[in-house]
Amino acid sequence: MTVLLSGRWSAAEGERWAQLLREAMPEEQWLLHPPRNAAEAAAVEVAVVANPEPGALSGLPNLRLIQSLWAGVDRLLQDPSLPPGVPLARMVDPAMNEAMVHTALWAVLSLHRRFFELQVQQRQALWQAPPQLRAAECTVLVLGLGELGGRTAQTLAGLGYAVHGWSRRPRELAGVQIWQGEASLAQALAAADIVINLLPLTPQTRGFFSAERLAQMRPGACLVNLARGAHVDEAALGAALDRRHLRHAVLDVFQQEPLPPDHPFWPHPQVTVLPHCAAQTDPRTAVPQVRVNLAALRAGQALAHLVDRGQGY
Ligand code: NDP
Repeated sequence: MTVLLSGRWSAAEGERWAQLLREAMPEEQWLLHPPRNAAEAAAVEVAVVANPEPGALSGLPNLRLIQSLWAGVDRLLQDPSLPPGVPLARMVDPAMNEAMVHTALWAVLSLHRRFFELQVQQRQALWQAPPQLRAAECTVLVLGLGELGGRTAQTLAGLGYAVHGWSRRPRELAGVQIWQGEASLAQALAAADIVINLLPLTPQTRGFFSAERLAQMRPGACLVNLARGAHVDEAALGAALDRRHLRHAVLDVFQQEPLPPDHPFWPHPQVTVLPHCAAQTDPRTAVPQVRVNLAALRAGQALAHLVDRGQGY
């Protein structure tokens, strides 16, 4: 099969992925975007993509599969020229799942045990122990219980945290109290000391953390956003932190990335900024996932991790 590789990345990064994919699947014909002529474009059956430029996948009349190398496909779905009807599969990468659990765990431990405040105290040479709460006395709400949220919730429950989870459809996760639907959301937010956002970015979840929703959070609660910057009204979050309604925010994703140097979150004492590094696709574990889906396509078998375009994730 002819496979087109297209990403919004540096030439070096593109070459690196191309080399790894070619080595793992020498039987395929690999092309780097853009196709050089109409015949090459007509030969393309699969596009392996990493947030390609809008329009990059138009003009491929024989495309049978779009395979994303990234887990989130929100940017891809925003491209109005994305070929309709072509199956879209996203990346589910075991190494990325593991990394996300690590980041969420670090954030929860730091917030629960007040380690961010202790770092500030050290710079002030202030010797003062914070109160020591048991994990069971700390309620963590995980929004989105998919690949990443589900694993995160279960890991935290295994450590003794009082874990609540919120998803669209019914779920059962050992040790996790499940909330469902809009009606339960205000109650779930009001009950949580730490809220972790692992929702996909869809028309339903864009702007999820509005001023109104942030006000529903328990006074003194903390927000951990590991999903997408567009989930959060940043001005409203800044205001909620400034008036101490919220104690701290750990933010890995932002409305604009890289976070502009003059953004008020950089110096904010109640904000911990991460440079969108909570969990990255690891080529060592991701390339085999691509291989599995290409083999399934060739054999006419079911494809893994297909996106429901109607739902946006
Ligand atoms: P999944 O698609 O596996 O899971 C999404 C979850 O969100 C599901 O439980 C789904 O519910 C739930 N959900 C979706 N829409 C709604 C809604 N309207 N109301 C309530 N629940 C909803 O996503 P992943 O776990 O793979 O990814 C989670 C997020 O992490 C994404 O935003 C992704 O872009 C981001 N991400 C961030 C990275 C980083 O480095 N910061 C790296 C990788 C991903 P249901 O179970 O009912 O379908």
